[in-house]
Amino acid sequence: MRILITNDDGVYSPGIAALAQVACRFGEVRIVAPDVEMSSAGQSITASRPLNYKRTLLPGLAGGVEAYRVNGTPSDCVMLGTTLWEQVQLVLSGINIGSNIGNAIWHSGTLAGAKQAALLGLRGIALSTPATEEAQPDFEMLKPWVGSVLELLLDSTDPCLINVNFPAQPPRGTRWTRQSVRHYDGRVVPGKDPMGRTHYWFTVVPVEATEEGSDRWAVEQGYVSMTPLRLDITDHTELARLRKHEAWKQLRFA
Ligand code: MN
Repeated sequence: MRILITNDDGVYSPGIAALAQVACRFGEVRIVAPDVEMSSAGQSITASRPLNYKRTLLPGLAGGVEAYRVNGTPSDCVMLGTTLWEQVQLVLSGINIGSNIGNAIWHSGTLAGAKQAALLGLRGIALSTPATEEAQPDFEMLKPWVGSVLELLLDSTDPCLINVNFPAQPPRGTRWTRQSVRHYDGRVVPGKDPMGRTHYWFTVVPVEATEEGSDRWAVEQGYVSMTPLRLDITDHTELARLRKHEAWKQLRFA
């Protein structure tokens, strides 16, 4: 099996090297990742300038693993990687330095790498772990757990798009979870530059209450959270309700 690996932290992140080391057990691995950090780039693609790639040597990787850096986004990397390397079956994205839970799924470039695979009809798995200024991820500790989770997920052919979040500590086990959407943690904070001009930083605020069964809850409880996702964001309940009232909710022009 050919496995393409990308991320949004950039090709030199220790998280992508750790993921590639584990993934080698499951197939032929190639890394195609952004040349600089692209966190929060979401699903964007680069359409206003050309893309290129360069071969890169990454420390700690077996000689068989080729790595390339791309001047683009995670989605660009998946498109370029699957175009230039045929018969890719699986795309892994991560391991992100920082959780991707709840509403972060909308902004995450890590998730975008996996979703771009799903858009192409391939399997996509995004992997993330918490990080703070004081506590950076321990990838050596995580590696055996990443291996076990990939074994579990690759054992069947579906589901084909999964968001995996590891806790900071050795996990207690795995939990299938849903995306928590009750709180939005994004916030814009104003500040001043050295010239006294106002500027703004986008940041996140802590979420207080956690819904049981959600991705955030599982990670807080020390479990590996595994959320199956889909590309169809249609509200099917609302669609069914609206269609019932077709007579007055739709316009007729002819
Ligand atoms: Mn990131």
